[in-house]
Amino acid sequence: MSNIRVVVKEGIISGKTAVVLAGVHGNERLNVQLFDRIIPKIKIDKGKVIFIYANLKAIQENKRFIEFNLNRAFRNNLGDKDKEKLEARTAREIIPYLNEADCLLDLHASNSKDSKSFVICQLHSFEFAKAIPCELITSNLEEFEPGSTVHWMNLQGKTAMGFEAGYLEDPESEKRSEGALMNFLIKAESIKGKIGYTPDKKFLKIIFLYKNKEAPFIKSREFADFEKLKEKTLIGKEGNKEVYAEAGDIMLFVRDRDELNEECFLIAKEITP
Ligand SMILES: [Zn+2]
Repeated sequence: MSNIRVVVKEGIISGKTAVVLAGVHGNERLNVQLFDRIIPKIKIDKGKVIFIYANLKAIQENKRFIEFNLNRAFRNNLGDKDKEKLEARTAREIIPYLNEADCLLDLHASNSKDSKSFVICQLHSFEFAKAIPCELITSNLEEFEPGSTVHWMNLQGKTAMGFEAGYLEDPESEKRSEGALMNFLIKAESIKGKIGYTPDKKFLKIIFLYKNKEAPFIKSREFADFEKLKEKTLIGKEGNKEVYAEAGDIMLFVRDRDELNEECFLIAKEITP
């Protein structure tokens, strides 16, 4: 049984094939609601837009995933154990659409209340990503965390971006996703229109991922996402070991972790592309 729902909309003029994904993480429901609202009424001018509801079972159960993170399943080297899991099979259902596409927008949202909206993409998509209505463009995540939809497209040299809309319970997040979707489709020439609000951007490159190897990780305090450190700072403790970051480091997603080998935090630097 399929774990995706695909809606294809075509224009009468030939053009790019764009893929838009919602529900890769099933609990990020605002983007699924956005699809339900937008798809029936949207009129495609040029080319083809493929809308994919990406993990129906997780959407139905309002869970981030069923067996493992679908956004790490887009890789050819999954272990035998993972290969037959639901999310691996789901990735294999989505991959033919990505392979057909010229460009991708994958819509997400965050569990964390004070999260900011940002784009995840690589340098070759920066020009496209400038059309997205948020202030932050983050690159290089896939060096540390391969297997996202965006990574799959990047390996083919295609335009691809993930959009994190902000806190998933915030009604403004759905509006931000809508703005991102519309600007993306205008930029791809799929729909007619003028690109809306696009603030000045900061470009970041992720340079470090900390995983706890030996003990649970406990953060030293709350860190706002994208907080820039003013001085060398204790980020947390892995068991008795103190973990520091340097002045100028930009902290992302600092979290307590009970299990071993989990993402505790990322560090980014500001870059000039
Ligand atoms: Zn997500």
